[in-house]
Amino acid sequence: MKKLCVFAVVLLSLPFVLVGCGKEENVPLNCYSVEAVFDEESATLTCDEKITYFNSSANSLKEVCLFLYANSFTETSKSVTKAYLDKAYKWGESYGNITFDSVKVNGTVADFEISENQNILTVQTEEFFPGESVLIDLHFTLQLAKVRHRLGAGEHAYNFGNFLPMVCVYDNGFVTNDFSPYGDPFYSEISNFDVRITYPVGFVLASTGKVVSTQEGEAVVSVVKAKNVRDFAFVLSREFSVLSDKVGQATVNYFYYDDENAQAHLKTSLDALSTFNQLFGEYPYEVLNVVKTDFCFGGMEEPNLVMIADDLPDEETINYVIVHEIAHQWWYGVVGNNQFDAAWVDEGLTEFSSALFFEKNKQYGLDYQIIMQNSLEGYLHFRKIYIDITGKLDETMTRNLNQFDTEPEYVNITYTRGMLMFDFLRQTMSERKFAACLKDYYKAYKFKNSSPEKLVESFCKSSRTNLEGFFDAWLGGKVVFENFSS
Ligand SMILES: [Zn+2]
Repeated sequence: MKKLCVFAVVLLSLPFVLVGCGKEENVPLNCYSVEAVFDEESATLTCDEKITYFNSSANSLKEVCLFLYANSFTETSKSVTKAYLDKAYKWGESYGNITFDSVKVNGTVADFEISENQNILTVQTEEFFPGESVLIDLHFTLQLAKVRHRLGAGEHAYNFGNFLPMVCVYDNGFVTNDFSPYGDPFYSEISNFDVRITYPVGFVLASTGKVVSTQEGEAVVSVVKAKNVRDFAFVLSREFSVLSDKVGQATVNYFYYDDENAQAHLKTSLDALSTFNQLFGEYPYEVLNVVKTDFCFGGMEEPNLVMIADDLPDEETINYVIVHEIAHQWWYGVVGNNQFDAAWVDEGLTEFSSALFFEKNKQYGLDYQIIMQNSLEGYLHFRKIYIDITGKLDETMTRNLNQFDTEPEYVNITYTRGMLMFDFLRQTMSERKFAACLKDYYKAYKFKNSSPEKLVESFCKSSRTNLEGFFDAWLGGKVVFENFSS
């Protein structure tokens, strides 16, 4: 996600593919087969979600945990901070949730439990062993809140980001993330998706994956296939126009309404895909959808799809957000990480990647050095004010979202400090070596999940340099910026 932070720089503002995807190599990918029916009048989605879940752990399992992001819009959850309340809920209070009509395992009604915070669904199963699978069948109704968020009914579009119950990553137990009013609390495994979406005539669909068929009768039925992705999202709007072009084998579609510069925004998207292909490694999908939509923050990354807020203030900001979200296709989409536990792993690298884009594409008028200088000054300014007000600032970077006291603290530590860290690292080695670090990291964790430790290990290995002290100083909050700011 890209927040428009006042302290940040520019803003100053085939199922069963045998790919290693979990703890054990050569365990098939999980498959999600979904039939979803959208009812506009009630703003609900009725879904049947069948999940073929493979036990990729080294243990036998008797239950499976799933993350229920849709419940972060209930009355008791806090989907945004106070600062964003009016922007997100511009039509007043509104709530959404997910309710289960039936839960089955291998065709039999199963016991299940929803956690107190409503974030985790635990489904009881028969004991199943490493390499074995269970078929979890969830029938549910998802009520959208009227909110300009990644999941919500907006004025121009309906956003279905992170709407599916997703099996939690298993790492010596299921990793059960909490909700957070800022950041992206997501962590999932690369999976395959077969999705059939039924929606009223007149809507245009933008989604993860490739639409393989669309039939129009009393309603429209689109069948979508998405392979090797870690979630499935879509956006529906009656107002979308679409511009398309290709970068290599990938088709880039720009979905928009009310945009005089649509062609230019498609061009930014093409340039971003092309630049990151060269810098990190090829985008491994056939489609990338860049979608202008109702959204209260700058933008949001989903697999094969990025949301760009429709109220961004100027061209510079629009370009920056498009580039940032497309960089996430590499750092989040292909190379995953726990975005709740260690957001800098994707956000820091994504913010840095955006600066690299502008270094390689000078026609956008943003200078890499100026971005870094402004970021450093912005960070120092934030630091001074924060310490003046609160008396302290914890600058450690590897913390979960709920361990940040405030949203500005989260944004500055994760995005800005993260970006500066990669810039300083770049300065410590030859350009060739640094470029290899990025490419090797992408290759090593393509379709897998990374972590702070794995990123550090990968960069050490590629550069043949012991960088542990460097990362330890930055991640542990030991680097004092005044040393560098003259
Ligand atoms: Zn982001």
